[in-house]
Amino acid sequence: MKLVFLGPPGAGKGTQAAAAAEKFGLRHASTGDIFRQAAAEGSQLGVAVKDYLDAGRLVPDELTSRVVEQMVVSRTEDYILDGYPRTLQQGRDLDEMLRRRGEHLDAALYYRLDDREAVRRLTGRLVCTRCGVNYHRQFVPPRADGVCDKCGGGLSVRSDSSEEVVRERLAEYHGKTEPLVAFYEEQGLLEQVDASAGPEEVTRRTEAVLARIAAD
Ligand code: AMP
Repeated sequence: MKLVFLGPPGAGKGTQAAAAAEKFGLRHASTGDIFRQAAAEGSQLGVAVKDYLDAGRLVPDELTSRVVEQMVVSRTEDYILDGYPRTLQQGRDLDEMLRRRGEHLDAALYYRLDDREAVRRLTGRLVCTRCGVNYHRQFVPPRADGVCDKCGGGLSVRSDSSEEVVRERLAEYHGKTEPLVAFYEEQGLLEQVDASAGPEEVTRRTEAVLARIAAD
């Protein structure tokens, strides 16, 4: 199967993509991970993308699509694309690269979550200023308020977790990525998954959708 996982930040699609890839024997191809690794290694690609990553801005479509073609689509292994496509242009690029290879997507799974819940999930993230362990006010709370369970250090709000940054990420998602929902709907590839439930339930729903597609 060749799959795309779409959804707003906070919907948990990265977690679901990792679990589904393992269960169905697919490669979990996250463009965010590919770019972060390249930046950490300081490769030519890493140098080209580092400024975009640091600023939280989208890497240009042409470069992103070229990387996905080289590192994912042109290999023989089946995959889940997580974080790509992120713009309509990338969606068209992906269609074109698949068409050239005589291949097609099997489905685009769309993890639906409203903004209020996304903000609630994303803004509650805390990090220990001493040992770096992550918490979440609501989902993974520390035993004592503001104190790390592991080392007793102080907890602070993660830098990507301020309400302002989260609202910006959501605005970018609505403006640039959400049009892909209609794009895949028109192609008859869209599968909606309600992401408002807990992670185990969303995994169960994902597996049910993928088992049906695999059986087709
Ligand atoms: P993520 O982990 O998916 O949030 O991605 C981290 C960063 O990588 C983003 O903030 C972008 O700078 C870049 N990135 C990941 N995927 C894409 C994409 N499909 N198009 C453009 N930039 C991307």
